[in-house]
Amino acid sequence: MTTPESAPLPQINNLPGEAQPARQFRSLKELLDFASGKELAKSMEQMGDSGLAEPLPFPFLALVGQNDMKLALMLGLINPNVGGILLVGPRGTGKTTAVRSLLDLLPQTERSTCYYGCLPEDIETGGIDAVCPECAKKYAEGQPLTASDRVRLVELPLNARLEDVVGGIDERAATLRDERMRIKRGILAQADKNLLYIDEINLLSDEIIDAILDAAAQGIYTVRRGPVSATYRARFVLIGSMNPEEGKLRPQILDRFGLRVVVRGLENPDERLEAYRRVTAYMTNPRALINQYAGEINAANHELQEARAHLRHVRLSDDLASQAIQLIQKMGIDSLRAEITWFEAARAYAAADARELVSAQDLSAVARMALRLRRSAFMAEYFNQQQDEETELENLLNTLAAPPEREK
Ligand SMILES: [Zn+2]
Repeated sequence: MTTPESAPLPQINNLPGEAQPARQFRSLKELLDFASGKELAKSMEQMGDSGLAEPLPFPFLALVGQNDMKLALMLGLINPNVGGILLVGPRGTGKTTAVRSLLDLLPQTERSTCYYGCLPEDIETGGIDAVCPECAKKYAEGQPLTASDRVRLVELPLNARLEDVVGGIDERAATLRDERMRIKRGILAQADKNLLYIDEINLLSDEIIDAILDAAAQGIYTVRRGPVSATYRARFVLIGSMNPEEGKLRPQILDRFGLRVVVRGLENPDERLEAYRRVTAYMTNPRALINQYAGEINAANHELQEARAHLRHVRLSDDLASQAIQLIQKMGIDSLRAEITWFEAARAYAAADARELVSAQDLSAVARMALRLRRSAFMAEYFNQQQDEETELENLLNTLAAPPEREK
């Protein structure tokens, strides 16, 4: 058994700023093994309640255990096409802490520098009027409309109204001629090319959740307010968390999340102790703990960026794909999202290992999170009931008109 001393414990007496040499991770698995210290895992329930300021999130690599959750989140960073991540578990299991700690690892992306999100593609497809006047001027002068920027974590406030989410009329801009400028961007537009995190997603109203899921599925959405309308890109990785004790998620919503992780508290007492120590070190001096992990965080960042770039070279053979689809069918899963998510997650997993062909091992490493909670209890029950009904009906018909000696 791992003693707490053998884990990479923070040494808070180190000088601030003294980063350790960066460790090289050769695969996502290695990174995860490091990240969990192969030990602890309950997540940091103490952290969830302490109202931490975001600028200094708990280091992702210092989170103890919870490998499934960490893997799912990293796959989402490598390949946004996994189709969102749902974390299901009771309070105090570190779901929110883990999501916020992703701030350490967020990669670079190319994004519009304009408030209205204007892109060169808009001009290429819609002409110069498709962007705001300022961007039109920039474009004409040959200046770039985009710049490299870090992916951000956008959190949906629990009390958000539909208007906050999709956007609404900007009264101050009501006299402007450009329609796009008369609508205030909503949270969904701000989430473009970012991560959108929704805690307690099962408590959101239906109209808000439908708007979010539609935008997530299309990658684009249009707001109409009277005569004014505007269209925004909304290509984000949706991360939801929920406590099943506090309300169910409609099955059609559940289906629209790609990866599903069931998050439980840490079971191993050593892990709990290790988690406690790290949380205490963090609360005493967050910067010192963060500095302890600076080298590893840099290395992990680099790895994730490489994996993202490598992803487009990774493919899945037809042979393996059809075996996997047969397995899905054997499990009685109807939704096509099952294989899309499963294959995209396996591609991300292979990309993290710098391989170009998805292996059966890649598929099995991510199978549970892609396939769990997909079998419809309702449909299974429905078919069963229907079967029962058929049998009963047949029996009744048999007694009604049964010839005295029936063979079957
Ligand atoms: Zn613009």
